[in-house]
Amino acid sequence: MKYTQLDIAPTISSLLGFEIPDKDGREIKEIGAYCADKSIDQILLIVVDGVGAVLYKKLDGALPQLKALSDDGLFFEIHSLPPRITTPNIGTILTGYAPKHHRLYEVADTFYTPVRSILEIASDNGIKSGIVIELLGAKAMLNRVDLAIGVENLHGIIDYDRRITDLALKAFSLEGIRLLMIHLRAIDNCAHHYATAWDDFTFSARTIDKNFERICRGLCRPTLIFVTSDHPIHVKKWAHLEDNNADVPLIASYVNEATDPDERE
Ligand SMILES: [Zn+2]
Repeated sequence: MKYTQLDIAPTISSLLGFEIPDKDGREIKEIGAYCADKSIDQILLIVVDGVGAVLYKKLDGALPQLKALSDDGLFFEIHSLPPRITTPNIGTILTGYAPKHHRLYEVADTFYTPVRSILEIASDNGIKSGIVIELLGAKAMLNRVDLAIGVENLHGIIDYDRRITDLALKAFSLEGIRLLMIHLRAIDNCAHHYATAWDDFTFSARTIDKNFERICRGLCRPTLIFVTSDHPIHVKKWAHLEDNNADVPLIASYVNEATDPDERE
């Protein structure tokens, strides 16, 4: 059976050695096998907003660092769950529960919920966890994880994504975080607000790829990086770019500090 967004949290929990009670998803065994002979100090989960599997392929060339991570690691096309909107779909990715079970439909729902994400369960199990996300989302997670950093979009989405990336590296190096989730928004923001032509998407993708480069160079310890997306493009004007496909990419790739990104094959 094809993997879905429900399976990301159970895979991470299995790697970190804890259980998600009553989860809807299952472990992606191939990732467990890929990691079996690797020493993983920390896990970084990157959600790139609004990139379906079809768009991902079309952006081939604008995402060279992500492609390198994919070539070095594992690549899946996984099913995205309805409603394919940012908050519920990130809720699914972080909890391993279907939307009807986590009921996180808008950011306000994330403030007072009995549902716990893998970040909270990890923290309860003594694994320092954190999130670097937009300001309100971070406020909702405050006191529920070890580190919740909120970033405001003050100077445009490219600057926002870059600051998210910088703070992610600091969270690992300065705070000893072992499980971190970040959310990069340039491509979705482009689709919603300023895209007039295909070139705008490749431009946005390149800015995101620069952040992958900085992450790969900046990580100080052996890290398993997951890259996925919350939903395919959902802006009507550009939805045709996904060819009616509802899959999103999932990449799992091991980055070892001893390996210079420039010299990786
Ligand atoms: Zn989204």
